[in-house]
Amino acid sequence: MSLAERLGQLQATLRQTKQKSPLAAAKTTLLGASKGQTAALIEEAIALGITDFGENRVQEAEGKWQPLKEKYPHIRLHLIGPLQTNKAKDALGLFDVIQTVDREKLAIAVSSLQSPVSSEAKTGDWRIVTKSYYIQINTGEEPQKAGIIPAQADEFIRFCIHDLKLPVVGLMCVPPADQPPAPHFALLRNIALTHNLKELSMGMSGDYEVAARMGSTCVRVGTALFGERR
Ligand SMILES: *Cc1c(COP(=O)(O)O)cnc(C)c1O
Repeated sequence: MSLAERLGQLQATLRQTKQKSPLAAAKTTLLGASKGQTAALIEEAIALGITDFGENRVQEAEGKWQPLKEKYPHIRLHLIGPLQTNKAKDALGLFDVIQTVDREKLAIAVSSLQSPVSSEAKTGDWRIVTKSYYIQINTGEEPQKAGIIPAQADEFIRFCIHDLKLPVVGLMCVPPADQPPAPHFALLRNIALTHNLKELSMGMSGDYEVAARMGSTCVRVGTALFGERR
């Protein structure tokens, strides 16, 4: 199947899901999770109208996306993988959105770079591209997975928004692979509602339909859109 055909199927499924789901969001962005995919395939996706892409590693993204972002300035690039504190500055210069704020140390690091009093931000040779953030919630409380556990979510979200003044727009999660995803999406949605956060980044190739039904505003689709990763 071609990229265009896979995209057509995904969009049709999202449309049908929304029509029969009262919790569905007014708009669900189809984000192309492009890790392991070539620049040529990404350009094909851009030509088909995809505007949002997600990468997992700062370094892989830098090589691939610096030229693509110059050529296609309307594209929004999201970081959807873990961010090391020592890569924060590089990430803020490349990604429009960082979806993986998952610990206090990182939140403090990015907010100090964001702040207008930061001397680094004032020097002309470095431009902050990042405009918004999601907090990653480890809804399944899996020890090997990144994210804030649900019991600490309220306090952490308040810390990021009120103390650090970080422009947090929503929450993101990756549910456990061996469980039905719906309860995890419902939990993420409820935490977001508590804090009046509008954006819910949830759903991947295997569960984007369930996620859209439950109010996802951003499904991160890799293999179902691009095919297998190289
Ligand atoms: C790789 C990845 C995706 C896309 O996964 P697919 O199963 O290929 O759709 C989505 N979100 C995150 C955080 C990922 O790492």
